[in-house]
Amino acid sequence: MTAPTTWATPHALHVAQQIQSRLGPADEEGQRWMEHRRTGLVNASCNCGYSTGWIPREQLPATDELYRQHSDSSDQARTNQAGSRA
Ligand SMILES: [Zn+2]
Repeated sequence: MTAPTTWATPHALHVAQQIQSRLGPADEEGQRWMEHRRTGLVNASCNCGYSTGWIPREQLPATDELYRQHSDSSDQARTNQAGSRA
């Protein structure tokens, strides 16, 4: 019987886009509707705990660069994640 390996937190980046919402003005019938818009800020966070915080979308590096910035073994981690059978 083989013992399990230790638990790990594999890299898995997700990018959230910040939005703002408000109750809009009343229309001719007195109805009011929620309005939403993107602020242009994004937050990339990873399952491993890494996060960029809210930054302008233009400053968000490419996915490969994000992995490279917060992991010395990003390629290995992604390979393991892709090959995972969990
Ligand atoms: Zn990560």
